[in-house]
Amino acid sequence: MIEAHSLTKRYGEHTAVDDLSFTVRPGVVTGFLGPNGAGKSTTMRMLLGLDAPTSGRAAVNGRKYAEHRAPLHEVGAMLEARAVHTGRSAYHHLLALAATTGISRRRVNEVIDLVGLSAVAGKRVGGFSLGMGQRLGIAGALLGDPATVILDEPVNGLDPEGILWIRNLLKGLAGEGRTVLVSSHLMSEMALTAEHLIVIGRGRLIADTSVAQFVARA
Ligand code: ADP
Ligand code: ADP
Repeated sequence: MIEAHSLTKRYGEHTAVDDLSFTVRPGVVTGFLGPNGAGKSTTMRMLLGLDAPTSGRAAVNGRKYAEHRAPLHEVGAMLEARAVHTGRSAYHHLLALAATTGISRRRVNEVIDLVGLSAVAGKRVGGFSLGMGQRLGIAGALLGDPATVILDEPVNGLDPEGILWIRNLLKGLAGEGRTVLVSSHLMSEMALTAEHLIVIGRGRLIADTSVAQFVARA
């Protein structure tokens, strides 16, 4: 469960997130929909404790992550894809991440399988395509087998097969009773992936409703 209470983030004169309140429940995929610049990434960073809100508060699974990063086994996250320029292999990249929290090698291999990177696990991450990079990011998010998963624009740059794969993965995670929040600027994508929508624009809440109701009101 994710709770945002009057979350607000200002950068100087600019208000990126404006008095945003919502709850994300476990068991269904919740889409976080809004155009580029709407404040989705900023909100997610505050939920994860990576950015401090100017005012308001956020809680994940009843815990407040204001000053420190949420641990991998409680919240798994993939923030907006940035190319990982490393000579390390995907396996060693994940192993290094796992080592910081005492996650086993067995689990590293498990998530590599889960995201379909087994064939390239020994290859340099620096040479990965965007889609492979997204899969690696998702592997990192799932490493700790977290109850809550937060993914920022995971289908960006993916081929159709990759998009279908993510859709099924997200539904599977929600079906296991996890809390799943996934952002997108594409209504068409969210209509097919999510069951519930939190829609924002210019940092403000526009709708917090089922996809079916949101589509019907158009
Ligand atoms: P989205 O993820 O929906 O595309 P963002 O959360 O990235 O939106 O950005 C929301 C607004 O906040 C944008 O206007 C963006 O330019 C601004 N912003 C985000 N991060 C910073 C920052 N570190 N400094 C100043 N402005 C920022
Ligand atoms: P099961 O079908 O019993 O979940 P799996 O082999 O699929 O068995 O999963 C092994 C471990 O990985 C379990 O701890 C399970 O909770 C976890 N797990 C399964 N699917 C996912 C997933 N999509 N993301 C993260 N962890 C998962």
